[in-house]
Amino acid sequence: MPDARCLIDRYASYLPVTDRTPRLTLGEGGTPLVRARSLERETGVPEIWLKVEGQNPTGSFKDRGMVVAVAKALEQGARMVLCASTGNTAASAAAYAARAGMSCTVILPAGQVAAGKLAQAIAHGARVVAVRGPFDAALAVVRTLAEQGEATLVNSVNPDRLEGQKTAAFELCETFGDAPDALFIPVGNAGNITAYWKGFVEAARTGLAHRRPRMYGYQAEGAAPLVRGAPVAEPETIATAIRVGNPASWRGAVAARDESGGAIDAVTDAEILDAYSFLARCEGVFAEPASAAAIAGLRKRARANGLRGASRVVCVLTGNGMKDPERARSLAGGDIATVEATPDAVRAALRS
Ligand SMILES: *Cc1c(COP(=O)(O)O)cnc(C)c1O
Repeated sequence: MPDARCLIDRYASYLPVTDRTPRLTLGEGGTPLVRARSLERETGVPEIWLKVEGQNPTGSFKDRGMVVAVAKALEQGARMVLCASTGNTAASAAAYAARAGMSCTVILPAGQVAAGKLAQAIAHGARVVAVRGPFDAALAVVRTLAEQGEATLVNSVNPDRLEGQKTAAFELCETFGDAPDALFIPVGNAGNITAYWKGFVEAARTGLAHRRPRMYGYQAEGAAPLVRGAPVAEPETIATAIRVGNPASWRGAVAARDESGGAIDAVTDAEILDAYSFLARCEGVFAEPASAAAIAGLRKRARANGLRGASRVVCVLTGNGMKDPERARSLAGGDIATVEATPDAVRAALRS
């Protein structure tokens, strides 16, 4: 029997909420864990599980943090939320703000947001402005607007976001009765890896788990400031959700890596696209390109014999593949055949 309580209620004792915090919900959390047998065969890892965060209400893990951030903003009497976004934060903020009866403004890096995410922000009634430059430039703008009191900032620099996002670590510990040996996760602004690590540390401290996993974060090679050890002025990758040059949670990501004995590494766009298509075609799970960076990272580490005996591994699939329809279309390698509605014509088209 699934737990019917909303995320805020289910984890109230771990979250910065009180009886007065509105129980805002769109049904976030409680996402599926799917066994990845094809990936197990390929890598030789005994157990690989996919945490399918794209099944959250707006199609990404951002909902776990956003529900807490917007509920707290509402509790504090705010009327407006504001964020910079590579797309999924915007979709999530717009949906939860609509639910809460608040207005929402989103600032996007021009030309770099997947179509599905933009559609969501518009549909939920957000005010949308695109700025020239990468995500980092948009984040700098909203930080200033928020400091000047124009709205509540709901990027992951808002600590309530990370508090909500850590609940995914609790779910893993509850399902397995302990933490996994290793967690693979894509890294953009680095809030999520920071939040998972916080969750695993709290789980171990409160008896939800006995141990803590090694944390393996993956950036795209053209947007890998944490791997290089310096900000990247012009980040580039097809995985737009992790196209970030100067992660806000830099220190949190480094702490997660070092305290867990894990690593943060980079994968190429070609490796990301290969993992993206492998997941969809061999596991039946359609995640967005940024999510596939975690899978590409696992494959790379397995090839290099870098898993150090990990027998139960979880990969976080951060967002839904339907967010980025253009990317999926590009896998078709051309136009879809359109023919007369006769069996012969269809057979001929299938043969060619
Ligand atoms: C936001 C996002 C990420 C990156 O998460 P950070 O917390 O910024 O590191 C990865 N994948 C998807 C699909 C996202 O929306």
